[in-house]
Amino acid sequence: MTGSAPIRIVIAGGGTAGWMAAASFARFLESGFDITLVESDAIGTVGVGEATIPQIRLFNDALGLDEDAFLRATHGTYKLAIEFVDWLRPGSRYMHAFGDVGRDVGLLPFQQYWLRAVAEGRARPELAPYSLNNVAALAGKMQRGRPRTAQVLPDMPYAFHFDATLYARHLRSYAEARGVRRVEGRIEQVRRDGESGDAAALTLDGGREIAGDFFIDCTGFHALLIGEALGAGYDDWTHWLPCDRAQAVPSSRAEDFTPYTRSTAHRAGWQWRIPLQHRTGNGIVYSSAHLSDDEASAMLLQNVEGEAQGDPRVIPFTTGKRREMWKHNVVAMGLSAGFMEPLESTSIHMIQSAISRLLKLLPGRTAVQADRDEFNRQSDFEWERIRDFLILHYHANEREEPFWQACREMALPDALAAKIALWRGSGHITREHEELFTEVGWLQVFVGQGMMPRGHHPIADAIPGDDLSEYMSMIEQLNAREVAQMPGHADFIAQHCAARQKT
Ligand code: FAD
Repeated sequence: MTGSAPIRIVIAGGGTAGWMAAASFARFLESGFDITLVESDAIGTVGVGEATIPQIRLFNDALGLDEDAFLRATHGTYKLAIEFVDWLRPGSRYMHAFGDVGRDVGLLPFQQYWLRAVAEGRARPELAPYSLNNVAALAGKMQRGRPRTAQVLPDMPYAFHFDATLYARHLRSYAEARGVRRVEGRIEQVRRDGESGDAAALTLDGGREIAGDFFIDCTGFHALLIGEALGAGYDDWTHWLPCDRAQAVPSSRAEDFTPYTRSTAHRAGWQWRIPLQHRTGNGIVYSSAHLSDDEASAMLLQNVEGEAQGDPRVIPFTTGKRREMWKHNVVAMGLSAGFMEPLESTSIHMIQSAISRLLKLLPGRTAVQADRDEFNRQSDFEWERIRDFLILHYHANEREEPFWQACREMALPDALAAKIALWRGSGHITREHEELFTEVGWLQVFVGQGMMPRGHHPIADAIPGDDLSEYMSMIEQLNAREVAQMPGHADFIAQHCAARQKT
């Protein structure tokens, strides 16, 4: 970085993506940069996005946010897992819990011993009892820090449910206190440099101009810079992730204050339930080719617990991603970069990883093409592997409706087909270094969606049968004992981070 004038970074849009970027830049680009964020209250934000994955804690920690204060400000709750109901077939349910399942033994992952134990009737055929988070979530319990029996039990990772609008507000206070300038106004045009084609300035209503050296497109589905101005194409993944609409409606706080998200499949998609401190978030995700908006809205309201607050709002989308997330001097983050639907709560995480990727590859005043290529390569890899994990939920099903039959029959991406073939043989799961979802994440969805392998690793046969039975029941007992000592989720929140308490 040369020259004395600060490098001007302009963030277009102030939803979750915009304020996450602004807060991070304020924290990590303390000197030599001038950060401006432009947003329009009249346009507003998408207003959904309430569930996260454990990596969000790294983001909050990097900013130095106090966890209790953050939960108070966002009316947040803890999330240990996602419960999938009716996904395999009506009446089925399983959890995808964060953290380990069982414990690896020597060379082999736990699942190899579990597969043998199940085949011999020495273990339960579901993974739930062998995962600490799973047992705790089902019991409505929560604890921070390492479990008491830490030597034998794995750590207990957790994430949050929160009100995304309040989260953006929390980050806005943080960013503004550290020098980010906020400009209120509607962006009407993106002025480009005649020679380089780079974005040069945002033209706002009333003719004001916000000039910059580097731009972050956080304008949500509008994608004003990366899409409209620069024409970065879009890879449409509807043939793999066929839902193209959502409707959301909050309801009064449910009695069942679960530390997990519930996802319930229906005849043409699924419905979410996310308990926050002050209300429950609900939404339905569906394929418009199989369900009309009116039918979806009626289905959503019928399955909402408590009293619905307002009418459901339709949100159309096309699953997929930008072909280039960094083009010229514009980087897309959040919904402007793409959307893969909220099934595994990955969107906010992908904002976080885009920020971290950009901070690592940040150029001086002028980027070289290699910077962009590397950013785009890493982004593509991350998005495609997450996409494959989501497709698995849809593809591996035994439901009878036309929507689900079509999902079963779809042609799969090569990497996913290879992953399934590997699992189907002897229960092997491999993960490349930068993949988001871990082996145990894949394991729980494979098993939960009814996909069992033909065999297991031969080394698992070396252990005497009685020892195997004892090992399986010991894990179950340790988990149950640990969870029995944890406080209830609602009590835990009341004690540490209830929104009504003033700091
Ligand atoms: P937005 O929130 O839409 O913000 C766009 C910003 O751009 C706004 O400030 C707007 O005012 C501004 N803007 C737009 N046009 C202009 C203009 N012309 N001039 C000035 N300003 C402008 N993610 C999760 O991680 N977990 C979830 O559970 C989850 N659930 C979801 C459910 C649904 C149905 C959908 C659609 C998304 C969900 N997401 C979820 C994704 C999550 O909502 C988004 O990733 C997140 O909110 C970021 O959105 P954003 O900031 O990109 O866009």
